[in-house]
Amino acid sequence: GLENKQLLEIQELIQKDKDHLWHAMSRYNEKATPLIGMRGEGGWFFDVNGDKFFDGVSGLWCLNLGHGRKEIAQAAYEQMVNLSYFPLTLSHIPAIQLSAKISELLQGSYTTFFSNSGSEANETAFKIARQYHIQNGHPGKYKFISRYRAYHGSTLGALSATAQANRRIKYDPAVPGFLHVPPPYSYRSPFGEHVPDSDLLAADYIDQVINWEGSETVAGVILEPFISGGGVIIPSKEYLKRVAEICKKHDVLLIVDEVVSGFGRTGEMFGFMHSEGVQPDIVTMAKGLTSGYLPLGATAVRSEIYEKFKENGKQDHLRHISTFGGHPASCAVALKNIEIIENEGIVDRVSRLGESILLELRELESLDKVGEVRGVGFLFGIELVEDKKLKTPASEECMVNVIAACKKKGLIIGRNGDTVPGLNNVLIIAPPLSSTEEDLRFMV
Ligand code: PLP
Repeated sequence: GLENKQLLEIQELIQKDKDHLWHAMSRYNEKATPLIGMRGEGGWFFDVNGDKFFDGVSGLWCLNLGHGRKEIAQAAYEQMVNLSYFPLTLSHIPAIQLSAKISELLQGSYTTFFSNSGSEANETAFKIARQYHIQNGHPGKYKFISRYRAYHGSTLGALSATAQANRRIKYDPAVPGFLHVPPPYSYRSPFGEHVPDSDLLAADYIDQVINWEGSETVAGVILEPFISGGGVIIPSKEYLKRVAEICKKHDVLLIVDEVVSGFGRTGEMFGFMHSEGVQPDIVTMAKGLTSGYLPLGATAVRSEIYEKFKENGKQDHLRHISTFGGHPASCAVALKNIEIIENEGIVDRVSRLGESILLELRELESLDKVGEVRGVGFLFGIELVEDKKLKTPASEECMVNVIAACKKKGLIIGRNGDTVPGLNNVLIIAPPLSSTEEDLRFMV
C-alpha cells in the first residue's frame, strides 16, 4: 500500500546505500536490496516497506531488552544535557558507579577499564595481561591461547585470537604470540567420536600446549564460556573449571570473553557462572552491557592484577587510552540497563524459558538435516547436515534457503561465522531476553 512518492524515496535510499554505504561482512550484490530498518518495537522491527520482522538474533546479539525502552533513552538524554562528554583520564559519576556495579555483579573485587566495543575490550585485556606479567617479574610471558572457531573481534589483536580462517586470511600475518587449540566441541570432537569426556580432553590439551610452549612464555588463555558466533558450542560445566585450574597452575591469566554471554544471555548474569568456583582474572564485556542502546566495552580485572599497576607498588601505569571509552552517556545507559535486568528478573526468566525452548527446538532433531540442536539460556544453535551419519555439513544453498524461508515468515535468524568453507552450517537463534512468551512461541 505504499504510494508512488514513497516508493521513489525508497528507490533513492537504496541507490545511495549501494553507492556509499559499506556493509559489514557482506558481499556487494548489485541485485540484492538491503533490509533498511525504520522502527522497532520490543523484539520486532519494521523496514522501510512497512514489513515486520521478529529479530531472532537481537541485532548482533546485543539488543537484549528490545527496542524502545524509554527509560534507557531518558538516562542517555539526561546525561548528555548534564555532562555531554568527559574523559576517563579524569573521572565521572556514571563510570564510577558502573565500575562498582560490575565488580558487584562479578561477585569478586574487580577494577574496570572502559572502551567502546568488544574488540577493544579484548585488545585492552591483552595489553593488561602482557604488562601485568612484566610487572609481576615474568617478562617472558606474552603468548595467548584461544580456541579454533572462536571469535574475539575484528581489530588485529582480537582478530589474532579469533581462529576462523576466512576472517583472517587476507589480513594476516596475525599479531605474533597467538596460539590456537581445539574447542570443546563434542559433536565434531577432534579427539574422536564417542570419546567420553572429550570436553575435558580439550581442556587438558591447553595444559599440554602450555607445557610444550613453556609456561614461562604464556600470558593468558582467552575463551568464551560458550562459543557463540563460532557455532554455539556448549561444553560441560567441568570444562571451564578444568581450564581455570590449568591456568592457575601455570600462572596464566584466564580471560573470559563475556561480550555475548554477559548480562543474562545464558541464564546466568555471566556465562562463567555456570561453572561453580570459577573466578576469571579478566572479564571482557560489550553488547548486552548497554543492550545495544549505545556503544560501550569493558575490561574488568581482578584487583590483585590491578595492584601491579599501582604507583604505590612502584609499578608503571597502563599506557592505554580511548577518547570515547566509558562515555558518560554510555555508562548511564549501562547502569539503567542493568537496573532493568535486575528489577525485571531477566536472568531467571531466560534460564526458565530457555530450557523449555531448547526442549521444543530439540524436536527438530527428528528431521533429516538437523544434526544437533544446542543451547543455553537464550542462545541456540541448530547444526544442519546433509547426512546425519556422516555429519557432512549442510550445503551453502541449504543454509541460505532456510534463513530466507524464515525471513519470508517474518523471522530473522543468523548463522555461524566465516570459518573454513563448509563449516558455517549452524543456524543461530538469540532472541531479545525480554521477548514476550507469545513472541518466543512465534519464533519456535
Ligand atoms: N567477542 C565476541 C565473543 C563477539 O561475539 C564479538 C562480536 O560479535 C566481539 C568480541 C567483538 O565485539 P565488537 O563487535 O563490539 O567489537
